[in-house]
Amino acid sequence: MASITLKHVSKTYPGNTKKSVDDFNMEIQDGEFIVFVGPSGCGKSTTLRMIAGLEDITDGELYIDGKYMNDVEPKDRNIAMVFQNYALYPYLSVYDNIAFGLKLRKVPKAEIDKKVHEAAKILGIEEYLKRKPKALSGGQRQRVAVGRAIVRDANIYLFDEPLSNLDAKLRTQMRVEIIRLYEKLKTTFVYVTHDQVEAMTMGTRIVVMKDGIVQQIDTPTNLYDYPVNKFVAGFIGTPQMNFIDAKYIDSQLTIGSKTIDLTKEFLANQDVESLGGGNVCVGIRPRSVKVMDQEGYDEKYAFEGTVNVSEQLGDEVLLYLTVEGKDGDFTIAGNPKKQYKIGDKVKFSINPNEIHLFNHVTEKTLYISK
Ligand code: ADP
Ligand code: MG
Repeated sequence: MASITLKHVSKTYPGNTKKSVDDFNMEIQDGEFIVFVGPSGCGKSTTLRMIAGLEDITDGELYIDGKYMNDVEPKDRNIAMVFQNYALYPYLSVYDNIAFGLKLRKVPKAEIDKKVHEAAKILGIEEYLKRKPKALSGGQRQRVAVGRAIVRDANIYLFDEPLSNLDAKLRTQMRVEIIRLYEKLKTTFVYVTHDQVEAMTMGTRIVVMKDGIVQQIDTPTNLYDYPVNKFVAGFIGTPQMNFIDAKYIDSQLTIGSKTIDLTKEFLANQDVESLGGGNVCVGIRPRSVKVMDQEGYDEKYAFEGTVNVSEQLGDEVLLYLTVEGKDGDFTIAGNPKKQYKIGDKVKFSINPNEIHLFNHVTEKTLYISK
């Protein structure tokens, strides 16, 4: 069993005035796969290292299985950690690299042997146990680093961007292997990444952070469908959500010169009057639009754009359009069976049930279509 509770946890590094982590609150249940995601410098590693005991907690409390942990030494926390820059011992075999920590702790030889083989089997590196790290590929080396963590039999596994140094294909492959590992070990995983795709595919719950502050803690689908603010909306999902300034007055939404009716169950969770002149920011996901020749296209909600770039991806075509009222490109998924040229005019309709509205000033979600 290993639950983790963070209560008002903050971190200010010596010499810094700004908090690197600001009032982090969360209850992580035993066996959850939690992902911390956010841009570089948002405080992911700092939070992870405070859980591991590698950084002091400036304010707040950390509990593991209900036990106060702030002052407990890292070695007494029963936590295993895998870093981005895993350093393997170059002169030791894979076997000895995995066994290293166990030998230090004077674990009996037979037990070490059993554990190393078990770990190697889980990770599919049994046949490389006699090799030196330099005779391994990047992915295999990364597996050895994970192997070192698994033999610890820890209650909690912490990963800090373990796949960042791998090329894209290997990263995808290792991602699947880490998910499999989680399914096998059934213990608590906390995984840090700046890659939202990694976060979405791995986490049972995701913590989105920005500037040391937690923005939202939710399941992948809820983050995608119900982001609490513009930052989360823009961070989760590729291609990125389009943002466009608009007016929202008396249930009428005006984008550019087009006004559409948003009367249907459009309950703002904030006083729309407070918007000041009805200024809002509209969020539209590229894949929630329909182009003119597709089923579901609705002239009532139609806009027109001019193609700047068309990206044919095989099963999908992404169009980068100039649309009235929008600075920069407006991205939509076009009809993959069609060829688009630069300068082509494309009509597309938005789905009023799938748009997002954000307060122009606070950037908080005003209304989420359901
Ligand atoms: P992330 O892992 O999300 O990229 P970090 O947790 O490493 O972010 O860093 C959060 C903030 O704390 C950054 O502004 C970073 O510069 C600062 N920081 C990290 N480590 C230290 C340190 N040892 N001393 C001072 N500031 C640090
Ligand atoms: Mg980091």
